[in-house]
Amino acid sequence: MNKKLILLDASSIATSSCMRKWKFTVLDGLVPDRISWSMEAGTAFHKGLKAFYSKKDLQVCQQEAEDYLDKFLCPDNTHITSTYLSLALLAYIKKYQNDILKPLQLDGELLLEKTFKFPLYSDDNIEIVLVGTIDFIGELGGQLLIVDHKTTSSTYKNSFLAGFRLSPQLLTYDFVVRKILKLGDEVSCMINAIFFWKAGAQFERSEIISFTKDLRDTYEEELRELCKKIACCYAANYWPVGCFTVCKEEYGPCRFQPICCVEPEYQQNVIDISYTKRIYNPLQFQKD
Ligand code: SF4
Repeated sequence: MNKKLILLDASSIATSSCMRKWKFTVLDGLVPDRISWSMEAGTAFHKGLKAFYSKKDLQVCQQEAEDYLDKFLCPDNTHITSTYLSLALLAYIKKYQNDILKPLQLDGELLLEKTFKFPLYSDDNIEIVLVGTIDFIGELGGQLLIVDHKTTSSTYKNSFLAGFRLSPQLLTYDFVVRKILKLGDEVSCMINAIFFWKAGAQFERSEIISFTKDLRDTYEEELRELCKKIACCYAANYWPVGCFTVCKEEYGPCRFQPICCVEPEYQQNVIDISYTKRIYNPLQFQKD
């Protein structure tokens, strides 16, 4: 029998408090038909930053961001347009023109948007592979650093940045850099935040975040437990909802609420009308 290949990334790990949500996301590959403009604008800015750190050319990085965003129809009610992003990139480059943060090079490759794949679990039914893309692995004054770029419209800089102190995404990247890329245990993390405010983009970086050995061990144990939970749910085809505790997310309802709010016999109709199915491949989404 062919085993089911499951690609697990930091985003899908974050959905696993509700296994129904995890299944909709990863196994069913359900994506709401309406696009999230702020998410696509964030991806465009990431592409601009990658070009800035690799090519050091303002026009090239503005073009990269614009080319990406132009694939989508800009809604009327947003201030984050292609022009806004170009100005934001200009402001970012001005602010950090003498930046001592530099990307690392490994075997001739700059560690920008570094993809990884790591086998985590296998049984008779499934194979789970940890995958993802790390925005930036670099060095700041001799400190090995994982940097994650975060774009947001939040107006609360300090509380936004403080929210990442125990981020599963950073813990995942910390695990990858130590165990897969084998760059050593002395690695820390930092959030490079871009605030898309109406009055103009603002930039702020978090404190340097280092994880204790206890946190790292606990996270690895949790990853192993998650793999076992996925295997059990898959074998039983039973997907518990976790007492509905995560149906409300930080910025609104879970994207699958329209499905869960109707009787089971109507759920497939809602899926057909409001969602598109695609194979869940985080490495492919990040290339698009
Ligand atoms: S709406 Fe609630 S129960 Fe339904 S998938 Fe989302 S988190 Fe799970």
